[in-house]
Amino acid sequence: MQTYDAVVIGGGIAGLVSAIELAKADKRVILLEKTGKAGGRGGSVITKGAVFNLGGHALFKEGEAFAAFREYGLRLKGGSPKTDGKAIWRGGIAPLPGTALGLLASPLLGWRGKAQLGRLLVGLQAVRTQELGHVTLREWAERTIHDPMARHIVYALLRTSTYCKEIDFQLAGPAIRQLQRVLRGGVLYVDGGWQSIVTQLQEKAERLGVTVSVGTKAAEILRLNGAAAGVRLADGQTLSAAGVIAAVPPAELVKLLPGAEIAALRRWRDEARPIASACLDLCLKRLPVPDRHFAIGLDQPVFFTNHSRVSKLSDNGTIVVHLIKYNDLGGGHPKEDERLLERTMELLHPGWRDAEVARRYLPSITVAYDYAHTGRSGPPVGPDVPGLRGLCVAGDWAGHDELLADASAASAKRAAAALLLQARTAQTKGRDIYHVV
Ligand SMILES: Cc1cc2nc3c(=O)[nH]c(=O)nc-3n(C[C@H](O)[C@H](O)[C@H](O)COP(=O)(O)OP(=O)(O)OC[C@H]3O[C@@H](n4cnc5c(N)ncnc54)[C@H](O)[C@@H]3O)c2cc1C
Repeated sequence: MQTYDAVVIGGGIAGLVSAIELAKADKRVILLEKTGKAGGRGGSVITKGAVFNLGGHALFKEGEAFAAFREYGLRLKGGSPKTDGKAIWRGGIAPLPGTALGLLASPLLGWRGKAQLGRLLVGLQAVRTQELGHVTLREWAERTIHDPMARHIVYALLRTSTYCKEIDFQLAGPAIRQLQRVLRGGVLYVDGGWQSIVTQLQEKAERLGVTVSVGTKAAEILRLNGAAAGVRLADGQTLSAAGVIAAVPPAELVKLLPGAEIAALRRWRDEARPIASACLDLCLKRLPVPDRHFAIGLDQPVFFTNHSRVSKLSDNGTIVVHLIKYNDLGGGHPKEDERLLERTMELLHPGWRDAEVARRYLPSITVAYDYAHTGRSGPPVGPDVPGLRGLCVAGDWAGHDELLADASAASAKRAAAALLLQARTAQTKGRDIYHVV
């Protein structure tokens, strides 16, 4: 039986950040990833010379993930797109009123709407999001924005920033905070795709001494006297460690603890509202309308963006663009969603099929396993698991108001800090919680 200070289950961004944080504190760590490579939904693939992220991925420059990557010394090259794009409304295209000038010129809004939207965008940074409490996005928007078109535009901006379209569940505070960050700091499209981030995270972890074991599935979190005691692998081997970080989705975590009646875990799983979307990733020889890089649907939950405008994603001059249709918990309709995304492409870039080099359609991919919504009945998720010492959780479902990869990175830091604190507390009580098995 091999012995470690801690086992991290899951090799996505949350798992990699957790492992780095524990290794920085001189802990002996093994990270288990069931697939053939680390990265999870942060990975990318190369198709016909072009790098495809799993759907368009933007790194929020004021977010927790960006801050952690900078702290670890990762090289984050790429560019920040401008928001001077197009709006899609009733099958047509209009300038997106994303700038003061765009707003004045917009044919979508009357003078009242322009004034209202202008005031709102100028005043948005002053909104004290922590004070909005349990207000949903719809409640906030209906109270604050009276012009229907101005409201459509604000919903679309919020949807694009959070990937969420559930305005009757989404808490206004965290969603507006995300939009504040986007408008203030912008986003980064990364050269080489997000694979370049996760590869560097893995290298950093390994330099710090973490054993990254890919193709290794955890089958069960072992317990002893009310504490995590290690992990049994799918091939039957056992790893001994008192500290475990589970950086896997909540349903997977419950399966890793068969027979454990841990109310918090079941609640986190049952109350989660995963965000799913349909994604069409395209590699093109050229962009049919060269200056059309960015478009947001106002009456349809779609988004188009040309990542190659600001980041390097191929060596052969091809262009990588991403289209997304945001779905709600009920999911979408794979075939209809694909046709909608193709029609959107036709509207923005007529004749695009002649320029197609490669495509990938993801009919329903989970963007985040949870977000801040009204359906949570208790305190935020993690990092500790009430009722089981030595187990902490991380992942994009364990955000404390952070969203997406920022929730993964922030929760991973919390999980590692909580596990280290548990170890220190146990040591001062004369009980070494490491190497208990
Ligand atoms: C289409 C799309 C667009 C997105 N856009 C953005 C964006 O613009 N900005 C942003 O910040 N975020 C974005 N995200 C979200 C971001 O990709 C995720 O939040 C983040 O990558 C999740 O990391 P994670 O480590 O929490 O989970 P995951 O990446 O899912 O990692 C979990 C890992 O655990 C492994 N695993 C599961 N069970 C086991 C087991 N039993 N044993 C061992 N390993 C196991 C899985 O194989 C996986 O690798 C997007 C996601 C998608 C899908």
